[in-house]
Amino acid sequence: MSDVTSTAVHSPRVVTHCSDINQLVRNAHAAGKTIGLVPTMGALHAGHLSLVQASKRECEITVVSIFLNPTQFSSREDLDQYPRSYSADLELLANHGVDYVFAPEREEMYPAEFSTLVSPPDVAKTLEGRCRPKHFRGVATIVLKLVQVIPANTAYVGQKDYQQTLVIRHMVRDLNVPIRIVTCPTIRDDDGLAVSSRNTHLTAGERQQALALSRSLHMASDLIEQGQRDAAAVIAKMRQVLADAGVSRIDYIALVHPQTLAEIRHVNEPTLAAVAAHIGTTRLIDNELIGR
Ligand code: AMP
Repeated sequence: MSDVTSTAVHSPRVVTHCSDINQLVRNAHAAGKTIGLVPTMGALHAGHLSLVQASKRECEITVVSIFLNPTQFSSREDLDQYPRSYSADLELLANHGVDYVFAPEREEMYPAEFSTLVSPPDVAKTLEGRCRPKHFRGVATIVLKLVQVIPANTAYVGQKDYQQTLVIRHMVRDLNVPIRIVTCPTIRDDDGLAVSSRNTHLTAGERQQALALSRSLHMASDLIEQGQRDAAAVIAKMRQVLADAGVSRIDYIALVHPQTLAEIRHVNEPTLAAVAAHIGTTRLIDNELIGR
């Protein structure tokens, strides 16, 4: 019997230099093809693959970047502990018909003489921005670099990192970057946990605790749908759900305006419920759009 796996999939072309991927993308444009970009930090999972599928549906060429971006991590330890699974990533991308993988070395994106950083837009100031200073500066910088190097028609990003999608949208608007940003829904495991590269760090017990994040968001959604308008009351109930599961290190529980991320006191319009908490040594975030 022939080896089905080696013939059924088409391995993507792996490119490590900016000039090479840029030339390939320009060639594709010249040939009249549409190009979708999925920026990732690797350790790929179903969430990333949903972005790939969206790109494959809409674009003729799909490029996935894999780059663990040091400028968006505040501690060396967090960066060192970030999961890596490069060979498995490539296999997944081959199975999903990706055309090009851009996987540069750190020095390719940040050579020794590198010194320019992008000041992120105002939506970066709250929530994650408060807990992780300089995080969005690193995100804005690497995303701008990636879309310069890979001038795609569309970039696909996940609602899981809701604030990040706004930071990217505002940055490309403010800096006139000609690219469309598409936000794809959060992919969850059957038990409701938002899929994340960091979930691999959770022990079985911590994983059970982590379910309190999505449960608290559902609780918020239910309360608001039942007519609760007092944001403080909703947040108190969410906090209780987390406390009942033994989650005590909470960075924030917030009800905010989905476009501005301004805090909401009285709920009478679409609302983003967002939560960030530490489960053991793992920091997790999740969110849900309510009233849409
Ligand atoms: P990362 O590799 O964590 O930088 O994520 C790369 C992209 O995948 C970002 O646009 C994320 O928002 C998106 N992503 C991560 N987890 C999920 C998920 N569970 N569902 C949908 N998109 C996701």
